[in-house]
Parts: sequence; structure tokens; C-alpha cells
Amino acid sequence: MNFSYSDAERAFRAEVREFLAAHLPPAMAHRHALGFHPLPQADLQDWNRILADKGWAAPHWPVEHGGPGWTPMQRHIFEEECREAGAPDLSWQGLRLCGPVIYTFGNEEQKARFLPPILRGDFLLAQGFSEPNAGSDLASLKTSAVREGDHYIVNGQKTWSSEGHYADWGFFLVRTDATVKPQRGISFLMMDLRSPGVTVRPIRMFNGMHYVNEIFLDNVRVPAENLVGEEGAGWRYAKFLLDNERTSSAFIHFSRHWLERARAIALRQKSGGTPLIESPAFARRLAAVEIELRALEYSVLRVLTHEPTSWDATAVASALKVRGSEIQQKVTELALDALGWQGLRAIEGFDDPLAAETVQNSHWPADVAGVGSGMLQTRAVTIYGGAKEVQKNIISRLAFNL
Ligand SMILES: Cc1cc2nc3c(=O)[nH]c(=O)nc-3n(C[C@H](O)[C@H](O)[C@H](O)COP(=O)(O)OP(=O)(O)OC[C@H]3O[C@@H](n4cnc5c(N)ncnc54)[C@H](O)[C@@H]3O)c2cc1C
Repeated sequence: MNFSYSDAERAFRAEVREFLAAHLPPAMAHRHALGFHPLPQADLQDWNRILADKGWAAPHWPVEHGGPGWTPMQRHIFEEECREAGAPDLSWQGLRLCGPVIYTFGNEEQKARFLPPILRGDFLLAQGFSEPNAGSDLASLKTSAVREGDHYIVNGQKTWSSEGHYADWGFFLVRTDATVKPQRGISFLMMDLRSPGVTVRPIRMFNGMHYVNEIFLDNVRVPAENLVGEEGAGWRYAKFLLDNERTSSAFIHFSRHWLERARAIALRQKSGGTPLIESPAFARRLAAVEIELRALEYSVLRVLTHEPTSWDATAVASALKVRGSEIQQKVTELALDALGWQGLRAIEGFDDPLAAETVQNSHWPADVAGVGSGMLQTRAVTIYGGAKEVQKNIISRLAFNL
């Protein structure tokens, strides 16, 4: 395939860059460039609305549901420019995960009800799939939904729910039939998280941040009209959703940002009196991960442009997820290592995004704050969206028939 940019693509890049320069609030960009999880209203929702007004909130959605109709290369350029400018990622749960399930499997009433607010960021969503004893083995989930008239009565516990503490709605996998094969008894239910019986408790991450939660469901009454698709077909919708999640999980632009951050630190830091960047050992590590990242980027572009492959699509999604998550871990480790002893202070005071301005004090150059936090945070990327070992099992089964 041809990877050089056409004149039209270069013009598109200039248009995106100009838009970002004019509309991305500097404080928002600053928080995100340092590595804070976006704030619900001041980042996620405000930026979502700015992009929605321009028609750019959901680059990967079909035009009939509000997507801009871009080519895969335009989407790639857009993401690259957003990352460079420090724009926050929009709500993953709504735009990447739940929205596509609703426009693919939902009925007309559900499309009209949920898609416009998801597109504008008017409400935020949380994913309620994992349970204390159902992570990799998701089909063993136990949260039950029993039909009573025109409602489901839901009982159980979900865990690790990202952004659950400020989400308005959740999309849940629930067991509607315990008498059939586990995969056949699961349904996909939209749930208003302000309903009586829903309790959300925080789980604090080891870098001090809070964005994952436990969700307890105690006799929650959910209208039956919130069932997406057919009862008992939730496993199929979940697989569709997880394939989408993994294909989007390469996080090329995230890794490029951190690679450049590591390079900038190594240019400044001294090792034995000379800049660290001149150390052969460090330069070799930097070059090796840069090559891996470039190779991954080409793999993603081949998928985006539908280049034919002999591999099963699910195996491809898993391979991109595994490689992308390994590289995210390597680039953040590289940045922290480049800081040397300063890295020990790069986590301190980094759990409050609104304090971002003061986190950088006179002892810290701009690129130090958040490096430690980012390195710790990316330990989770080989777990969420499907653990690495399980992805390797999928690849060996579907791609190599092992
Ligand atoms: C930061 C973060 C955010 C998350 N956000 C969400 C969210 O928003 N919504 C949601 O529903 N879930 C979320 N999750 C949960 C995530 O999807 C699960 O953690 C993941 O699926 C792994 O499940 P588990 O934690 O139960 O680990 P387990 O399944 O218990 O796995 C433990 C270890 O055993 C290995 N293992 C398990 N089975 C096998 C096997 N068959 N072969 C080889 N090795 C195996 C795993 O690879 C792993 O290393 C999040 C998790 C994290 C860490």
C-alpha cells in the first residue's frame, strides 16, 4: 500500500491543525499532555460538544448516524493531530464501545434515544461487564436480570467500571437465563445509573488516581425497553464490542507522544556529563521501540484500509491490542528511566488534575510531572479490554489453529 500523503490529505491535516489551534482550550490541552485522565465535564463533555458542533465527534461512525464520512487515512491524521495538540480523548465507553452496538443492533427507538446524546457527550456511560469472578472468563458472569412484567429486576456486582462514578448510564451484560449454555443466557441491558438500588464505590489506582469503580446492583428495576437487541444474544454483541475495542487499542498516537517525551528528556538529562541521548545503550532502546511503533502503525493502517489478510478479524484485533499495549508500557518506562532519580518525584501530587498548574513547580521542568504516574498507569493496559495471555490464546487458536 502507498503510505505517502496526497495533496488532499495534507490540506485536511492543515484544516484539522487550524481548527485545534483555534478551538482547543489551552488548560485542557495542558492537563492532557501531562497525562491526566480527562475531567468529566471540563474535558470530556466540553471538548465533545466543541467537536460535535463541527461534526467531528465520532470519526469512525457511519455518516447516517453522525460520522463525518472520513477515509481511514483522514481518521488517522485527525487522531495524530489531536494527540499532538494535547486534545483529550473523548468518552471511550460511549463513542467507541456502546454507540456502535446501539446503531448496529438497537431498535429505532433506542437509536433515537441514545445516539444523539452519546454523539454530543450530553451524558457519559460506563461499561458493566467484569465481575469479581468473571474477567477473562466473562461468560461465567452472575449478575441476574429477572423479567417481571415490563421490567427486569437486576441483582449482582460489577467491578473495574471505568468512569462509573460520573457516568449517567451504563451498558451491562446480565444473565437472563441460567438454564442454558453460559454464553446463550447473557443479555445486553442499558441501565440508568441514577436508579434506586445502584451503588458506585471507588477503586483507587496505585498511581493515586480514581477512575475505576465497583458497581453494586440491588433489586434495580430496569424497563424492558432498555434491552438492546434480542434477549440471550448479549454475548454476540459483547464480542462485536470487544473486537472494536481491541482494534482501537493500538494507541499509536499515545505511544508516539510518550516516545517524543522520552527523547526530549534524554536530550536534556546528563549521564556522566554527556546528554543521555548520546548513551549507546539508551539510544538503542529508543531506536528499537521507535521501529516497533512504526511497524505497528503500518499494521493498523493496513487494517484500517482493509488490506486483505489471511488472518481472522478477531485474531488481528487481539494482535494489535497485545502489541500496542506492550509498546505503551515500553515508551512510558523509557521516559521514567530517562528521568533517573527525578522520576521518584514524578508521581507526587499527581492525583488532582485541577492542580496541574501547580504540580509543576520550580524544581520540575514541564516534562517531568506525570511521567511516573503514566508509567504506573500503563501497567493496566495489558489487562483491560482482555488480558494479554488471553489475547495470545485467541491468536493461537484463530490464526494458527493451535
Ligand atoms: C484499569 C482497568 C480498567 C478497566 N475497565 C473496565 C470497564 O470499564 N468495564 C469492565 O467491565 N471491565 C473493566 N476492566 C476489567 C478488565 O476487563 C479485566 O480486568 C480483564 O478482563 C481481566 O480480568 P480479571 O481482572 O478478572 O483477571 P483474571 O481473568 O482473573 O486474570 C488473571 C490473570 O490470569 C490470566 N489468565 C486468565 N485466564 C487465562 C487463560 N485461560 N489462559 C492463560 N492465562 C489466563 C490473565 O491473563 C491474567 O494475567 C478494567 C480493568 C482495569 C485494570
